[in-house]
Amino acid sequence: MAKAGISVAEILRRLEIFYGRQQPNWPTDPYLFLIWWHCGYPASDRACAKGWESLNQSVGVDPTDILSATPATLSMALKPGGMVPELRALRLKEIASRIKDEFGADFGSALVGPIAKARKILKSFPNISDPGADRILLFAGMVPIAAIPSNCPYVLVRVFHGRERENYRVTYTEAQSFVSAGVPENLEARMRAYLLLKRHGQEVCKTKNPKCSTCPLSSDCAFFAGRNRGRGASAQ
Ligand code: SF4
Repeated sequence: MAKAGISVAEILRRLEIFYGRQQPNWPTDPYLFLIWWHCGYPASDRACAKGWESLNQSVGVDPTDILSATPATLSMALKPGGMVPELRALRLKEIASRIKDEFGADFGSALVGPIAKARKILKSFPNISDPGADRILLFAGMVPIAAIPSNCPYVLVRVFHGRERENYRVTYTEAQSFVSAGVPENLEARMRAYLLLKRHGQEVCKTKNPKCSTCPLSSDCAFFAGRNRGRGASAQ
């Protein structure tokens, strides 16, 4: 099923022509990202942005702002971001408290050093797993890691192999290996790759029912070729 007619560089080139240059629409500071990530649920850029705006307006996002607000006030501030605002308010308290007590004002400095140590620290916070930790480290400008958007790790795997792998972890790891091999190991290039793949996964190469007929990659995509073969066979 593998189809090797296109490079990762060419994929990104076409996506950039299609979508234009992309910029992160979330805070890239590690502490602020942890707060932003809990501003919406289910977490999406849109939900988090709504909760984030409301939190900034009514409470503030510094650890002292969050710790001095009552749970009810925090919960109300997070409501525009979606479900379980009460639980997310507790999470924000937990994060703010740990940042203040364990890391002082300089959380970023605690993440400098070996990647394994930085990952371990980030993953000790609620709702942060490997994809989230990779994203934080890349966009904070700390490590040119091959981070992959957590909600659409399958994009490159579909193009090269035709379908997602047997589980999320394998798909994510395989996508990382495509980016590691095909995108220069520098912050700018790895961020560009992340942002373009994320946009494509959100808008065209969706989890269910990808819009292949409008996709700039369809002529070289193994998933699309396989789907057409399947349709041709069932029509016979
Ligand atoms: S052709 Fe379809 S499956 Fe392939 S990258 Fe485009 S949207 Fe995704």
